[in-house]
Amino acid sequence: MRLVFIGPPGAGKGTQCARLVNLLSIPHLSTGEMLRSVKKQDTALSRWVASYIDAGRLAPDHLVMRIVAQRLKSDECRNGALFDGFPRTIVQAQLLDDFLSDEGLVLNMALELRVDEEELIQRLLKRAQIDGRVDDNYDTIRERLHVFKTQTAPLTDYYAKQSKLEVVDGMQSPDQVFEAIKACVARHSPQ
Ligand code: ADP
Repeated sequence: MRLVFIGPPGAGKGTQCARLVNLLSIPHLSTGEMLRSVKKQDTALSRWVASYIDAGRLAPDHLVMRIVAQRLKSDECRNGALFDGFPRTIVQAQLLDDFLSDEGLVLNMALELRVDEEELIQRLLKRAQIDGRVDDNYDTIRERLHVFKTQTAPLTDYYAKQSKLEVVDGMQSPDQVFEAIKACVARHSPQ
């Protein structure tokens, strides 16, 4: 199964992704993690990537697609993948659709995890104290939420038009969220 997980920063995607990949035995493709690992190297590319991440802005669409495509071509992704934090723009969604159709593959579902903005800010500020992620400070959080609203939220329409969208209420407990996700997965699983 191939699925896209859409949710603003702080929605609880990380927790649910871990459970989902375990349930479905598919690889977890987090572009945030992929880009952070590029950022750790000491190259011109890594400094360029850092300039986006540290400002809370999106890395360029074609760069992100290239990194994802490399992973998708590997054997581990033959039977499916969970896309976490990707696509983040309509252009990325189109690039992914084109890539998959060239490979004769399909995306089965797009899952949106919905959480109120005030709750998101509280959760992210708490995470900043615990993890110390450089991009978890107040200004960057606001910027990432803004980027989500303007660039990523429109993806829900894109996938609704393809009849692939499922929306889950992320204000529930983690167990309740996972139960709701499992029900969505059951509805869209390939035969
Ligand atoms: P969060 O969802 O908590 O903001 P991520 O780990 O998904 O965190 O992403 C961190 C940063 O990495 C983003 O703010 C952005 O700069 C970059 N990034 C991640 N995924 C993408 C993507 N698909 N396209 C462009 N930039 C991305």
